[in-house]
Amino acid sequence: VPDNVTLPEFVLQNAELYSDKVAFVEAATGKAYTYAQVTRDTKRFSKALGSLGLRKGHVVVVILPNVAEYAIVALGIMAAGGVFSGANPSAHASEIKKQVEAADAKLIVTDASTSKKVQSLELPVIVLGEEHVEGTIHWGELLEAAERASVNFTKQAVQQTDLCALPFSSGTTGLSKGVMLTHRNLVANLCSSLFSVGPELIGQVTTLGLIPFFHIYGLTGICCATLRNKGKVVAMGRYELRAFLSALFDHEVTFAPIVPPIILGLVKDPIVDKFDLGKLKLRSIMTAAAPLAPEILNEFQKKFPGVDVQEAYGMTEHSCITLTHGDPTKGHGIAKKHSVGFILPNLEVKFIDPDTSRSLPKNTPGEICVRSQCVMIGYYKNEYETAQTIDENGWLHTGDIGYIDDDGDVFVVDRIKELIKYKGFQVAPAELEGILLSHPSVEDAAVLGLPDEEAGEIPAACVVMSPDAKETEKEIMNYVASNVASYKRVRVLQFVDTIPKSPSGKIMRRLIKEKMVENMKTNLKAG
Ligand code: ATP
Ligand code: MG
Repeated sequence: VPDNVTLPEFVLQNAELYSDKVAFVEAATGKAYTYAQVTRDTKRFSKALGSLGLRKGHVVVVILPNVAEYAIVALGIMAAGGVFSGANPSAHASEIKKQVEAADAKLIVTDASTSKKVQSLELPVIVLGEEHVEGTIHWGELLEAAERASVNFTKQAVQQTDLCALPFSSGTTGLSKGVMLTHRNLVANLCSSLFSVGPELIGQVTTLGLIPFFHIYGLTGICCATLRNKGKVVAMGRYELRAFLSALFDHEVTFAPIVPPIILGLVKDPIVDKFDLGKLKLRSIMTAAAPLAPEILNEFQKKFPGVDVQEAYGMTEHSCITLTHGDPTKGHGIAKKHSVGFILPNLEVKFIDPDTSRSLPKNTPGEICVRSQCVMIGYYKNEYETAQTIDENGWLHTGDIGYIDDDGDVFVVDRIKELIKYKGFQVAPAELEGILLSHPSVEDAAVLGLPDEEAGEIPAACVVMSPDAKETEKEIMNYVASNVASYKRVRVLQFVDTIPKSPSGKIMRRLIKEKMVENMKTNLKAG
């Protein structure tokens, strides 16, 4: 990891050599920023923030969809010594308020449509876009004023050990937590995750920017990684399969970091067959954030034979990626299909018995623990959770179960918190979901444990069937039963219209569980 270079300096290094090259383009509008413009506006914005009184360590909450200016906003905040905290623009006003307050934000950056959600917060608000919104600061005018201002405010020296980002974890297993990341954390993650990108790819990659940029996967894995390698990001707002496929063609996308639900759509949705997939320029996809069912991966490779699939595993607390496949042409071997890859350079990984903390041998599933320069400083104002997560020797306990095989390939089993405990046996929802998805009439599925007096918990499933499916619930349960040991059988199954998923592609099992428990109670009362 290079010494004392900040994240904005690291990702924009040598940008002047690529000044006319497009760095960001919006798929929907065609609005684009070259490397020269990104560099210029990042500097202007950081200067403007100084003039607005932003000081080192001040948090700025950014509530934007994936717009062309996103990286300028985030890097500008960091260059000014501030701390970038991305929020979901489709979140409810009360959820946004919670994040703004939890982060002790001093300033908000948003757009005209979302600005209504933050009106009551009594903080200065910068609004992107042409429109003037009363009581807010206009982005364009702010940058112009910063450009004209002759007196430079005294820039505070930013160190690598300073905080630069405060992303909030997805809140899949509980309340979402503010994750304190430094410039060094993120620079180290980029150094490790980009190790396999050869010089011939510098300036050559067009990345699809579909994953929300407020999530660590979008921020580090897409924005920062692509800018560092002088590629082009095609920024997309909301996900819709047809628009997604069109963007791949229209912008000649070569690399698409996505999540399993999108792969599921590509495999199962008949719309895909209307496109001439042979004409795609897509060379590889990355999939992370949730388990990818083996059957779905097989189907994807049949449909997209020329596309290399890089599975990756990461988390907010580790500044993004921890394990990945890398480029198979680079001589470090090819990670096995269905594994999440091998351990990135400069990282230590071990697998422990979660009860005794003892290290486990190869091929034995245990809690994945990581130690590296990418490990967060801690959760913001939450010493208790920090102590639960990072031990006294600096190991980050991920809460995920996995194992490493004899060749160094790592397999993720599931989250500890989501394992179903059936009569003392452990059942991984991801495995059962994979089996359900392999049924031709099943479009989507979620598995979770429901409380049961006798067994402790029983495996239960919510399933979305294809419109013309004829099978009954019982038949789908039997299909699973014929593929697993009897303790893993799905014992309750409901047909549903959709499976709720988070913006980063995770099944929201807590929500489904609450609904199912409620349904069971009403059924009990009625029956
Ligand atoms: P919270 O911690 O608030 O409950 P979260 O853990 O979902 O939310 P993120 O940091 O966005 O928040 O997600 C990291 C988690 O995503 C990992 O701990 C792991 O459970 C899951 N994950 C990431 N990549 C993979 C993968 N390739 N396969 C399986 N699970 C993955
Ligand atoms: Mg987590």
